[in-house]
Amino acid sequence: MSELRKDPVSKRWVIFSEERGNRPNQYDKENEEEHNSTEDISKCPFCEGKEKKSGDEILAYEKIHNREPNSPGWWVRVLENKFPALTSKGATLKKGVGIYDKMSGNGRHEIIVETPKHYDNLPDLGENEIEKVIYAYRDRYTDIAKDNNIKYILIFKNFGRDAGASLEHSHSQLIATPVIPKKVETELHGAKDYYRFRDRCVFCDIITQELADNERIIEENELFISFVYYAGRFPYEIWILPKQHSAKFELINKKEVKDLASILKNTLQRVKKLLGNPHYNFVIHTLPIKENDTFYFHWHIEIMPKLTKVAGFEWGTGFYINPVLPEVGAKYLRECKID
Ligand SMILES: [Zn+2]
Ligand SMILES: [Zn+2]
Repeated sequence: MSELRKDPVSKRWVIFSEERGNRPNQYDKENEEEHNSTEDISKCPFCEGKEKKSGDEILAYEKIHNREPNSPGWWVRVLENKFPALTSKGATLKKGVGIYDKMSGNGRHEIIVETPKHYDNLPDLGENEIEKVIYAYRDRYTDIAKDNNIKYILIFKNFGRDAGASLEHSHSQLIATPVIPKKVETELHGAKDYYRFRDRCVFCDIITQELADNERIIEENELFISFVYYAGRFPYEIWILPKQHSAKFELINKKEVKDLASILKNTLQRVKKLLGNPHYNFVIHTLPIKENDTFYFHWHIEIMPKLTKVAGFEWGTGFYINPVLPEVGAKYLRECKID
């Protein structure tokens, strides 16, 4: 089982997971051998027909009535990660060791297999298929949130090896942690400060400003907006937000799921087309599970294409050097023709 240790200087928690070091990497093999896709696909545990290889499903949206669990005929499947960073093992054990703090690696680590088809990635799927992926995010979130040992649930996607993916087949992940992550805490503090000072949600104000400036917007529909973030750390760093104030992702309704699927698909298609299918990460930031003060925070998705490397200066300072002005990046993305 893994272990969490707290850095007494930065107050950051680190997960130590030896199991993670043992996981196979499909992409490493590609480096050594000639890329042989037929062979790759035959080994893929996420493909339809390989359900028995992937371990028991936690959730599946079924295409056929009365389908046997772990058999073909599904839209989306959720599985336990075979090499989990955190696992669910009863109550979280906390311990002090001299000046240090540690706790047991109690949490969840799940894989959301977004499609039965090996070569379709998220933006290639139909909007109705992407909707099912979003419903799977929501349903797993709501279920795990009932566990009192869990403080935060991060839903995220790594696409491509530069973004940390070890398997090619389109999937997202969910990691539930026994503490609130530092990055999330920083955002919560910033938003809380802004709210105390102006009595308004900072994200709602950002949306108003973006709509007024109309320089960084990429896509907009009735309920969502996507834009290149004003102070983005990375080139083409994109944020997607619901236009109506909403702190908790898990409360997303049917109409919002529809509009989110549409804006996510179009935005990712633009990124894929303009930037040549770059590797990317996206994360969903939402209010921590047990937090009920919903006025100051606004859930959102941050998309980070991997076009630059985080290097010494960034590690040493927390400063980022972004070579693409958001206004310029947004213009290219907007003008890029998609089907
Ligand atoms: Zn596959
Ligand atoms: Zn808001």
